[in-house]
Amino acid sequence: MTKPTFTIDLRSDTVTRPTAKMRGCMHKAVTGDDVFAEDPEINELQKRCAEMFGMEDGLFCPSGTMTNQIAIAVHTSPGEEVICDKLSHIYNYEGGGIARLSGASVRLLHGDLGRFTASDVRSNVNPLDSHYAKTSLVSLEDTCNKGGGSIWDLSELREVSKVSRELGLAVHLDGARLWNALVARGIHNDAKALHAYGANFDSISLCLSKGLGCPVGSVLVGSKSFIAQAHRARKVFGGGMRQAGIVAAAGIYALENNIDRLEVDHARAKRLGEAALHHPSVISHYPIDTNIVILELQKGVDADALSAEWGRNGIECFQFGPSSIRFVTHLENTDDQIDGACHYLSNI
Ligand SMILES: *Cc1c(COP(=O)(O)O)cnc(C)c1O
Repeated sequence: MTKPTFTIDLRSDTVTRPTAKMRGCMHKAVTGDDVFAEDPEINELQKRCAEMFGMEDGLFCPSGTMTNQIAIAVHTSPGEEVICDKLSHIYNYEGGGIARLSGASVRLLHGDLGRFTASDVRSNVNPLDSHYAKTSLVSLEDTCNKGGGSIWDLSELREVSKVSRELGLAVHLDGARLWNALVARGIHNDAKALHAYGANFDSISLCLSKGLGCPVGSVLVGSKSFIAQAHRARKVFGGGMRQAGIVAAAGIYALENNIDRLEVDHARAKRLGEAALHHPSVISHYPIDTNIVILELQKGVDADALSAEWGRNGIECFQFGPSSIRFVTHLENTDDQIDGACHYLSNI
């Protein structure tokens, strides 16, 4: 076999490594003991993330799994129930943490690519009767990873939040790729729109290590009293860090430099999706709202074997299900690599 003339890593947007400029900021970090809230970079990062969404306070954590699980632990008590979509990361990909760490049960909704409606929430809240688990939290995901980077319709999202609150439920957002969703809506530089968006939630989890290109880190934002409780949960979960300003400095750099450019990832994802439709093994793709492309394959095509074949031809990607393959675009991709991948997919 001839060696491919290009290689592109489309496995995930978590594969990005810190750039020289980002490393420069990390190098200059002052740092301090964050368990004592004395790390200036962490304090600054938490403040910026909170203010962006009109929240009072923030908490820097090692991972998005931890920020989600801390939020669930604070919003629920053992034996209570969390409402979320069946595609949600908190349910599928966090090691059963809802049951294990919070002792809570889950009510799964069957939404549209991860998005559900206010009436879904209304009809899945348990009655206030001691036979039932007490429903206490609704969790949304914007963008929804397993939904192919799908974004919510803002009016539906507002309605879900309003109805959930009327029912006495807390509302959490898994915003691992929230900046992708905001860029797709064109509101990422509109402070008022961001505050209005944040007002729908009691807590938001934000990942810096996905599209924003940081080596590690997530931030949880919410009210002062919520974050005070989250601080205790973070300690219990073993996530209290010391001079982690070295990584928070990467986060501040990313907020300033890597949000606007997400639209490039989105345009590239669309190009890849269109090119892949020319491939004889591809039937269709999910709607491409952001930086994730999910390709559905012809009957009988083995997704694992096809993704391995594409890998040998320079396109590194994963199977997403038995008959689908996922691409995720990110800041290490170049135009030449995208051209190469589109050419390969559409001329096979
Ligand atoms: C990646 C991701 C997370 C968090 O993952 P970590 O690897 O723990 O940082 C949470 N939610 C969604 C939707 C994700 O894609």
